[in-house]
Amino acid sequence: MKAARIDRPGQSSVVTVAEPSVGADDVLIKVRAVGICGTDLHIFKGEYEAEYPLIPGHEFSGEVVAVGANVINFKVGDRVTADPNIPCNRCSSCQRNEPNQCKNLKAIGVTRSGAFAEYVVAPEGNVFTIGDMTYGAAALIEPLACVVWGIKQVDVQAGDTALVFGAGPMGILVAQSLKQAGAVRVVVTDVVPWRLQMAEQLGATHTVVADAQQAAKLKAIEPDGYDIVVDATGIPAVLEGTFPYAKARGKIWVFGVTPMGTTVKFPSYEVFRKDLKIIGSYAVNRTFPQSIALIKNGAIKVEPLISHQLPLDDFSKGLELAEKDSKRVKVHFNL
Ligand SMILES: [Zn+2]
Ligand SMILES: [Zn+2]
Repeated sequence: MKAARIDRPGQSSVVTVAEPSVGADDVLIKVRAVGICGTDLHIFKGEYEAEYPLIPGHEFSGEVVAVGANVINFKVGDRVTADPNIPCNRCSSCQRNEPNQCKNLKAIGVTRSGAFAEYVVAPEGNVFTIGDMTYGAAALIEPLACVVWGIKQVDVQAGDTALVFGAGPMGILVAQSLKQAGAVRVVVTDVVPWRLQMAEQLGATHTVVADAQQAAKLKAIEPDGYDIVVDATGIPAVLEGTFPYAKARGKIWVFGVTPMGTTVKFPSYEVFRKDLKIIGSYAVNRTFPQSIALIKNGAIKVEPLISHQLPLDDFSKGLELAEKDSKRVKVHFNL
């Protein structure tokens, strides 16, 4: 089968490899749509916990083409997606019911072959039906499931105000989800004006261009600060800059993925003095069902986020688009 592979950090190629073998508990999926995620770019640059050479791709949907002997819930022809994270179910984290913190966590497209390929294999327990959702929308269930886990961690309250740094695909999903969870005012800021237009169309109540007036404008909207301030950029300097915007008792949500090993400075006295909370949220944590429900019921709009659809042969072009093109939101491959 055809697959896009990252041979080593900085080098990718489209190759022909053997189809993945299907174990007794596995489902073989013919990939129909797969998205490039910021994590894939980190993997490409060697900034993430991946194993090379690697076929990445963990945001995908497709059609079941084969099932292992023990599989009971799926049959050939089913339209599905899969949670890429495979916890070991036996370490102390798994025993505490914290599967995203599994000490032996494996992940489709990170530590084992992913979906930038014609076929991908997933354990039955990770597979979910998508009903009549489009394949494009279904390939956004995984990123939204990451947001849903963060929303749970942050514990959004009715009437909260929120400020989101970054109007990329994740920032826009965060903004929509904060609103669904009860935030009444969701301000999004970014350097790219047209991304802000999209954020506004999809639910941001205010948008602010990140220019020389950014700080004054953000302060003017909420002079006392925001209940929730989110970094959805993964840029260390942006994360450092979030603290002055938090209201007393406010929460800083560290959502963007900074490169591994990054440290940032934070105003410790302010955190102490203002009762601030710094909250992390890592990946998906059994949040696929909620993400599917949000998309299926139209509560969160994901399809407008797909800005580019390419064939898999254009993998390296797609990586470049996702990295640099200011006119991109989500880059998808259709197979
Ligand atoms: Zn992702
Ligand atoms: Zn475990």
